[in-house]
Amino acid sequence: MLSVDEALRRVMEHIRPAAATTVACRDALGLTLAEDVAADVDSPPYDKSVVDGYAVLAADVHPGRELTVVDEIAAGATPSRAVEAGSASRIMTGAPIPPGADAVIMVEQTEALSGADTLGRMRCLEARATAGQNIMPRAASMRRGQTVLHVGCRLRAIELGVLAQVGRTQARVVGRPVVGVLATGNELVPPAQSPGPGQIRNSNSSMLVAAVQQAGATAVELGIGRDELERLSALVAEGLRCDVLLIAGGVSAGKFDLIPQVLREAGVEQVFHKINLKPGKPLWFGVKADCAVEKPVFGLPGNPVSALVCFELFVRPAIRGLMGIRSTGALETTAQLTCEYVQRGDRATYFPARLSTDDHRRTVEPLRWRGSGDLRTLAEANALACFPPGQRTFAAGETIVVRPLGE
Ligand code: AMP
Ligand code: MG
Repeated sequence: MLSVDEALRRVMEHIRPAAATTVACRDALGLTLAEDVAADVDSPPYDKSVVDGYAVLAADVHPGRELTVVDEIAAGATPSRAVEAGSASRIMTGAPIPPGADAVIMVEQTEALSGADTLGRMRCLEARATAGQNIMPRAASMRRGQTVLHVGCRLRAIELGVLAQVGRTQARVVGRPVVGVLATGNELVPPAQSPGPGQIRNSNSSMLVAAVQQAGATAVELGIGRDELERLSALVAEGLRCDVLLIAGGVSAGKFDLIPQVLREAGVEQVFHKINLKPGKPLWFGVKADCAVEKPVFGLPGNPVSALVCFELFVRPAIRGLMGIRSTGALETTAQLTCEYVQRGDRATYFPARLSTDDHRRTVEPLRWRGSGDLRTLAEANALACFPPGQRTFAAGETIVVRPLGE
């Protein structure tokens, strides 16, 4: 059976960044830039003070020196007087340095004196000044025309701030993929309904829609499909209008596991079915190739924990790839086991676990978990503890690979 790594490689072979599009910056959080962005201004636009204090001639300042205050410059104002020997201008953080001045001394290092004119006089206390002190020179942060953000950069809050700084309200980005989520199973009822005999609530749709959104894509909920060919075909056809289709359930070996057949008939070519993974063995993956852009289709196992593990291992990297996010290394880390763990069987195991960091030491505790239907225990987990296939006892304190859940 296909290993997890090989299955991921086969998925990613079919993933390309989505087409570029222009979006309002307010809708661009988490997206990847598809253009280089240049500054349209110098920042700061003038030599500016970085403290509240007095703009002075550095050479004119020594402890006890008294200066006449000739001007007061607030942020947003322009200086009206030059500074010369024996004078100083009161200046606020962010305000432009007046002509003549080459340093700013902090207000805390001065003492205000009453004086003849309205602005008064001041005395320098322990202060000595060096030229350039407390001044941020024009264009120190960025120069007009300079590229400030590059193609491929992921837009976080910081980059949205930089875009605003250079006057951008729109940006060219890799498009946000639309991911359809279809739950299947005759036993399923919507969360708002009380389950009757033989029924359970559909938890996969809510979970997968949220996981898709958390990964930065747009989710479209396609509802619950009965295990019936005609109905499933109609829903799959609707789902194939999305960029990616996630189907939960109906991919195992049961008589009513109709999804592989429905997908085949809808022209989705199977890339693989079943992998060497616990939980998540029934995973089905294929592509609809007869459209402008290949559409990946995931048939996730119906058991909620299996569905989530497959989402983390395969769907999240695929969404990241579609969104043009280049770094994938951050998805895994390592930690020390808090207790012994006995790995049995020949499937790679991703076990619900609690990852903690105390005193710079990362530890991981596998949780008491009742199998792939036990979503409740997964709610206590913040990570998956990863054990390679094969019979082996992992000792307490041993370092293992861990996959934090979510971003
Ligand atoms: P299946 O993959 O369709 O054979 O389903 C495997 C198990 O997962 C069965 O116990 C289903 O009842 C359960 N299951 C399937 N779909 C869902 C869902 N959307 N929400 C909760 N449990 C589900
Ligand atoms: Mg089913």
